[in-house]
Amino acid sequence: MMTTRDPDCIFCKIVAGEIPCAKVYETGTCLAFLDIAPVSAGHALVLPKDHHPTLMDVPASLGGDLLEALGKVGRAVMEATGAEGLNLFQNNYEAAGQLVHHAHFHLVPRFSGDGLRLWTQSSYDDPDEMQRLAKKMADLLK
Ligand code: 5GP
Ligand code: ZN
Repeated sequence: MMTTRDPDCIFCKIVAGEIPCAKVYETGTCLAFLDIAPVSAGHALVLPKDHHPTLMDVPASLGGDLLEALGKVGRAVMEATGAEGLNLFQNNYEAAGQLVHHAHFHLVPRFSGDGLRLWTQSSYDDPDEMQRLAKKMADLLK
């Protein structure tokens, strides 16, 4: 199957077999392997084989394949590690911590009391700001 690739992309090189990986799952369109620098052992990455820089570039036609891969690999990550929970993380652009610019999903096994802190939450200073932002987004989606 033909895949689109970026010659400078490390994940494209893994997809092409030019760089080794601890492979977990592969279909015609998706690949999953373990992250080389895991949050904890068993942390897996799921990605479309085609090179798409961010989630927003991934065609919706790949959605079903990706969701199926995430479900299957997620279950395997939990069973293999004995995890009690599972987080799905997905970073887009450097400001959000994206290091590899080939869209991918992190599956991180979780254990109660493992101490991993995900994010801190806040509140809206101006009560109207939430409604204003929601309307702006809704208008963009019309
Ligand atoms: P990002 O920060 O872009 O969402 O995540 C990229 C992830 O890819 C990082 O967690 C990093 O450890 C992992 N990674 C980077 N290079 C390699 C590699 O060559 N092999 C594997 N297995 N993982 C990699
Ligand atoms: Zn790539």
